[in-house]
Amino acid sequence: MVIFKSLQPPINLPTDITTWDWLFDSEIGAISKIPENELAGYQNCLTKERVNWEQVKEYSIYISTALVKEYGMQPGDTVSLFSQNSIWYPVALHGAVRAGGKVSGASPAYNVEEMTYALKVAQAKFIFTSPGSKDVGFAAAKEAGIPKERVFLLEGNIPGYPTIHDLIRIGKNYGESEQIPAFKIPPGKKNKDVCGFLSFSSGTTGLPKAVMIAHQNVIAQCLQIQQITPESHKKVLAVLPLFHITGLVHGLHLPVLINAEVIMCPTFTMSLMLETVVEYKIKELLLVPPIVIRLVRDPIVDKYDLRHVERFSCGAAPLSEEILQQLQKKFPQTGFKQGYGMTESCSCISAHPPEKFDYKYAHTGGTIVASTEVKIIKDNGEEADYNEPGEILARGPQVTMGYLDNGQATRETFDADGWLHTGDQGSIDHEGVILILDRIKEMIKVKGIGVAPAELEDLLLGHAKVEDVAVLGIRDDYSGELPKAYVVPKPGLKADEKLGKELLAFVREKKTRYKWVKEIEFTDEIPKSASGKILRRILRDKERTGRKGL
Ligand code: AMP
Repeated sequence: MVIFKSLQPPINLPTDITTWDWLFDSEIGAISKIPENELAGYQNCLTKERVNWEQVKEYSIYISTALVKEYGMQPGDTVSLFSQNSIWYPVALHGAVRAGGKVSGASPAYNVEEMTYALKVAQAKFIFTSPGSKDVGFAAAKEAGIPKERVFLLEGNIPGYPTIHDLIRIGKNYGESEQIPAFKIPPGKKNKDVCGFLSFSSGTTGLPKAVMIAHQNVIAQCLQIQQITPESHKKVLAVLPLFHITGLVHGLHLPVLINAEVIMCPTFTMSLMLETVVEYKIKELLLVPPIVIRLVRDPIVDKYDLRHVERFSCGAAPLSEEILQQLQKKFPQTGFKQGYGMTESCSCISAHPPEKFDYKYAHTGGTIVASTEVKIIKDNGEEADYNEPGEILARGPQVTMGYLDNGQATRETFDADGWLHTGDQGSIDHEGVILILDRIKEMIKVKGIGVAPAELEDLLLGHAKVEDVAVLGIRDDYSGELPKAYVVPKPGLKADEKLGKELLAFVREKKTRYKWVKEIEFTDEIPKSASGKILRRILRDKERTGRKGL
């Protein structure tokens, strides 16, 4: 039996406290050990608005009191955060968690239908939104049956909707002795049994599902990453969206533990990101492959002096060796690290430790993080030895609880022995370094964000002119991958350019931008197994042999 174990010392994992107590409790919380004048915080790079950890703690106490006493929130209720990056996002998050809630992040790019689906699947009872996403947020809340009184604003002012500042004021009015106590892990349970967060992923197959992330998962992952984070990492660039698992861990929780200032960019543009990196002298840049690609290709980069940057950190999707070479050439003073993992593993299964922040290892997924084991299962079902490829399975305290109300998908992905089946293909060498070779699951990764083929197939199957359809990812230089649809038109219809354009426009109208189908290829039949499952491998092979679509 070949089980690859982490080479890091095990983490010392508390098993009976929540993330809130672990970070903010007056006696045991991480911030209680930081001198008051050294407290870092969350800061808006544009407005300079800032809250330090002590303020986050105070406001989250008031918010939890307001949510429970004024709005009837119960432990276990889901609170959805639907906003671009904001310093008030974590304040609402920690407040809801203190009240015993489950916090669910959603992409601010969602349209009404997508957001309604997210609210329903997460069974959200409350929603926080902000001016940029308010119209969709309000409409989706209505569709999902969330009353207007339970829709709050993280930023801005709109008559009739309480703001986060109203909640803070309401909570504060209760006075110190009437604040609700922080939610505790119920007797008989451990923090691995209590869900504190929900994050969306399509997993290995099917529609997006809400991954149940336990308090323990976030705590474990933060400790695992802390162990391999240099002391000098004191400023975190939060340019990646906070709703994604990377944001939840690396943007919202880990910085509190390591007392690193989080510089939040409310939107992403290259110039805003670069200005922020220069202004705050940020040394480590946490990015996804399309931004790294722009760093080597976009001429705007040359206008900025980035010589203080020590390291790039990347994950979420593969990055080509060619881009890595160009990056090293352009920024010779830098090192490079990657994290490999998934929402279901609360971010990283593996990552680069400091001794491997070298471009020599940049194309790899790094080494297994602490207290984690990996098994690689070959195509023939046997366990792989060193350097043999197969499906990566991982087990550790960061492996999440499963999918909310979806027992079947949970059983398919999380087995009875605690192994998470990643749907990724890889191998491990004698140094313990993981190579990510391929994605064997359905998921398409567009600019690092997961897109579920099943979601686009469902949509296209609902089109009057479509008889059958299969969607898969095709390589794209900039986005990494983009969706392509193989379509069987209804009998008697002409499979021509006009129909192709109509279908592309249909997807554009119904789905948010990163899910748009890049190309359509008409076909007579979708290859399926005897049980009716799409045989994606056949389509993928066809794709690799180079037939072009519309
Ligand atoms: P998500 O749940 O959105 O984080 O997506 C997880 C998936 O992204 C993984 O199962 C991989 O297929 C892919 N992924 C994550 N990190 C990496 C990486 N460093 N290199 C290649 N693919 C990655």
